Amino acid sequence: MKYIIALDAGTTSVRAMLYSVSEKKFYSVAQQEIAQSYPNPGWVEQDAGEIYYKCAYVLNKCIRAADEGEIVGIGITNQRESVVFWDRKTGEPVCPAIIWQCRRTSEFCRQIPPQMQEIIREKTGLQTDAYFSASKIKWAIEHIPSVSALLESGNLCVGTIDSYLIYKLTGGKTFATDYTNACRTMLFNIHTLEWDEDLLSYFGVPRAVLPEVKSSTDIMGEYVSGDQRILIAGVAGDQQAALFGQACHEKGDGKITYGTGLFMLFHTGEESVRSKSGLLTTIGYSIGKKIIYALEGSVFNAGSCVQWLRDEMRLIDTSAESEDLATSVPDTGGVRFVPAFTGLGAPYWAGEARGMLCGITRGTGRAHVVRAVLESIAFSAKDLAECMQKDSHIHLKEIRCDGGASSNNFLMQFQADVLGVSIDRPVERESTALGAALLCAIALGYEDENSVKECRKSEKIFYPSPEKERFDGLYLEYKRAVERALR
Ligand code: ADP
Repeated sequence: MKYIIALDAGTTSVRAMLYSVSEKKFYSVAQQEIAQSYPNPGWVEQDAGEIYYKCAYVLNKCIRAADEGEIVGIGITNQRESVVFWDRKTGEPVCPAIIWQCRRTSEFCRQIPPQMQEIIREKTGLQTDAYFSASKIKWAIEHIPSVSALLESGNLCVGTIDSYLIYKLTGGKTFATDYTNACRTMLFNIHTLEWDEDLLSYFGVPRAVLPEVKSSTDIMGEYVSGDQRILIAGVAGDQQAALFGQACHEKGDGKITYGTGLFMLFHTGEESVRSKSGLLTTIGYSIGKKIIYALEGSVFNAGSCVQWLRDEMRLIDTSAESEDLATSVPDTGGVRFVPAFTGLGAPYWAGEARGMLCGITRGTGRAHVVRAVLESIAFSAKDLAECMQKDSHIHLKEIRCDGGASSNNFLMQFQADVLGVSIDRPVERESTALGAALLCAIALGYEDENSVKECRKSEKIFYPSPEKERFDGLYLEYKRAVERALR
C-alpha cells in the first residue's frame, strides 16, 4: 500500500492525513490545536516553533499509522499570508509569527498613495491591505531588534508558513515556497513570476531574506524519519489547494468554502483576469510550468453568523439545528439579515457597515430569523459570483462546495436556487488536504491532470429551481436591505 501524507497547517489547528494512492481515499488523521495570542488590540500572533513541532508530531503519528505501507510523499497546505522570521543557521524563529488576521499595519497600508496601490494591484493582483505579508515584514524589520540584527548579519530568513515547514522538515536544506503562497505576500509579481524589485524596495525587504519560488508540483526536498526518506512535493495555500482538490481544473469551474468566513475561487484559465469589482487575482495552482489563475472573493462572516445565532442570540443549540428551523417555515416572512458584523467586502467595500436585521413584524419567529441568516450567506455568495462573471466574462457552470456549513442542505439548495447553477457537494469534504495530496501525487507521477479528476466523488448535487424569477426577486429584497445597512 502506498500513501501520501497531506500536512494541513491551518490557523487554529494542524493536521496530517494519510491518503492511499491506490484507493484514492483518506485513512488516518492526527490533529493538534495551535494557540494564538493577541498582545495588543487587533494584533494576532502565533509561535512558529509550536506550529513546527506540532506539525512534526502529527506527521510522525501518520507515518506510524501507515504501518507496513510505504509513504511516498508529503504534500503541504497552509494558512496563507502569515509570516515567520527565523535564523538561517539554527532554523529557530526569532520572534512570534505575524498571522494573517493581524491588523497592526492597517494604518500604514491606508496611507500608501493611490498610485502605489495601483502599481501593487497591477503587479500582484491584490488590493493593498494589512492582511497580506508585505507590510507585516516591513514592520518586523523596523520594529523588532532581533529581526533587524539578523538581517544585518545576513542570516535572516522570512517566509510564509509553508516555507518555514519545508525549511525545518528538510533540515535547513531547502528554503523555498510555491507560487500560490508567494502571490499572497504582496511582493510577488504574478505576471513575471518573480519577487518584484519595485515592491521589495518599497516595503524595504531585501531579496536575500526571501525563499526561492517553485511550482506547486515541484519536489522541495526530503524529510528523513528514521530510515525512511520521504519526498516533500505538492505545496499550495489552503484556498488554492481546496480549488485543486475540488477538481476545479477548467476555466469557469468554481468552489465555495463555507467556514467561519466564505471563500469563493473561480478558475479563469491561463490568463490572469483583472477585477473591476475589488476581487483578488491570484495564482490558483501550477503544474510544472503551467500557471492557472483564479479570481478570489471572500465574505468575512458566513458560518460565524450561525455561531452568533447559537452563542449570542441563543436561537439554536447547535449549528446543524439551523437547517430544521429554516425549513419549518415557507419563507422568512419578510425578514432580511445583512451579515456585516465586520463590514462588507466585494462588491460594497464598506468596512464601517454593520449587521442588520429588518422587516420584523409581530408575527416574526425565531425560524424566520434563522432562515434569514442562512439566506443572507447564500446572497453574499451570489454577490461574489456576479462580480466574478462580470469581471471575467466567463459563465459559471456549477459550484463545488465544502467547509462546515456546506453540510446544511437547506443552505446548499437555496444557494443553487439563488445562483441558478447546481451545487455539487463531494463525499470527501477535506478538499484542502485532498488538494495537497493530489498535487503531491502529480509531482511524484502517480496521477496526472486528467486522472486526478476521478479522485473527487460527488455526494449530492443540488439543482437550481426553475422558478428563477422568484429567487431573483428575493435577491433584490436582500440588496435593498444592504442599501439600508450602507446608509
Ligand atoms: P473553519 O475552518 O473556518 O473553522 P469549518 O469549515 O470547520 O470552519 O466550519 C465551521 C462553521 O460552519 C461554523 O461557523 C459553524 O457555525 C458552521 N456550521 C457547521 N455546521 C453547520 C450547519 N449544519 N449549518 C450551518 N452552519 C454550520
